[in-house]
Amino acid sequence: MTIADLVSKVQQYEPSLDGAWLEHVYEVADRAHEGQRRASGEPYVAHPLAVADILADLEMDHATIAAALLHDVVEDTVLTNERVAELFGTEIAILVEGVTKLTSIPYQTKEDAQVENLRKMFLAMAKDIRVIIIKLADRLHNMRTLSSLPPAKQLSIAKETLEIYAPIAHRLGIWRIKWDLEDLALRYLDPDSYRDIADRVAKKRTEREDSVTHVISELVAQFATAGVIAEVTGRPKHFYSIHKKMVKGRDFSTIYDLTAVRVIVETVKDCYGALGVVHSLWKPLPG
Ligand code: MN
Repeated sequence: MTIADLVSKVQQYEPSLDGAWLEHVYEVADRAHEGQRRASGEPYVAHPLAVADILADLEMDHATIAAALLHDVVEDTVLTNERVAELFGTEIAILVEGVTKLTSIPYQTKEDAQVENLRKMFLAMAKDIRVIIIKLADRLHNMRTLSSLPPAKQLSIAKETLEIYAPIAHRLGIWRIKWDLEDLALRYLDPDSYRDIADRVAKKRTEREDSVTHVISELVAQFATAGVIAEVTGRPKHFYSIHKKMVKGRDFSTIYDLTAVRVIVETVKDCYGALGVVHSLWKPLPG
């Protein structure tokens, strides 16, 4: 992953992006973090670059991408918010400032009610939703590189991720980030359960892939007949949701939805049409 890769990724959904400008933002971040390293030993700038890449996968606008590249400079380098504003304008400076403020919220393991307050404070403090989304991407990359940290730190960060960040991603409907955060947190908080689920899921994979392929082709054919315009894809169930069902006492073999099929339509009419087709093909399960 290089800055050139990031520029071309963003230009795919925002063709008017000035690539040289984004490269300049990156160079400023790179210079500011010069000499700093991540716990993994990598040069620090690899982190903001990875965060920006996660946001480019979500097709976030160029201001969010630029702010992601700069998200740790005010906290960790001599660069000030005023300087960021001078260089790149107030919109980006405000985003960076918002991320810096969220980073400073203290977190200790708290009672449930206080955790809920913390989530609320988190959402209220960021007047611009893009600040929260940058913060979620920041946390996702920190979770992906968590193995470089000492075990006690891994546990506290994983717990905080599960209690604060994953529920916020849920509330915002950013499922991809929510699922990744939960699965990564489970890996550190309950490694035995994580490995157990990973093994069982892997064993049943071929069987499952066959059935999903079959279901998808059946649906595509029936939708075509019924004139429903839909996009049909299979998606694997994430580990944490399987874990939660098993904690509630469900046996692995009785968890039916190890994979799911996602149907995306453009209109409410097609949504009901698709539901009708699904119900004519398979019997709904009560509850
Ligand atoms: Mn960061």
